[in-house]
Amino acid sequence: ISGPQGSGKGTQGDLLEEKLGIIHLETGDMFRAEIAKGTELGKKCARYMDRGILLPDSIIFDLLSQILNEETIKKGFVLDGAPRRLSQIKWIDKYLVERNSQIDKLILLNLSREETIGRLSARRICPQCGRNYNLITVPPKNDELCDDCQVKLITRDDETPQAIAKRLEEYHTETDPMIEYYREQGKVLEINGEQPVEKVFQDILKSLEGLALRG
Ligand code: AMP
Repeated sequence: ISGPQGSGKGTQGDLLEEKLGIIHLETGDMFRAEIAKGTELGKKCARYMDRGILLPDSIIFDLLSQILNEETIKKGFVLDGAPRRLSQIKWIDKYLVERNSQIDKLILLNLSREETIGRLSARRICPQCGRNYNLITVPPKNDELCDDCQVKLITRDDETPQAIAKRLEEYHTETDPMIEYYREQGKVLEINGEQPVEKVFQDILKSLEGLALRG
């Protein structure tokens, strides 16, 4: 699942996991967990992520070879946050083919630049459990408190206006060519990501109709 930041990839990934019983793998969350734990990997990631720039491929390939294991491949998965570059999609394609699998479709959540910036500025995260919220699209029940922990929600370090602009620019230079590569193969499902969460989800399910799911 791909799309600019704030397009709702995480939310739709969770819904797909629930509905289809496949695994939702979110790379950004995994790296944030490493940062929160203060591991060596986390410290390295923070140097890139705080500035809103993409991590080197070697870190991504290490993580992907751990999470794309026998179980996830057998069950089926929705990858969110990766691939993000042409080099990554080519690596994943090769890795999966060697394991008799493949990425069937790329769900692309389309969002205008204005909408992207507006949504990102409204994003909040729980510093305790890492749950994501958006004050506009997925607001917490009370004020700006986490529904689960009742802790005050915070803004992510990579969601300052400067970091947002940098990430958006990078999305177009790095991720657009990757999407084009899959578009040429007829694998891209274009979804209007500006609609309400439920409508986006219905559109995704409709576009997946006829696709034989593993499991
Ligand atoms: P996200 O939560 O998906 O926006 O990811 C947050 C940050 O994690 C990105 O801005 C990158 O620095 C890093 N990251 C996550 N996935 C990848 C990836 N596939 N390639 C490079 N960097 C990544």
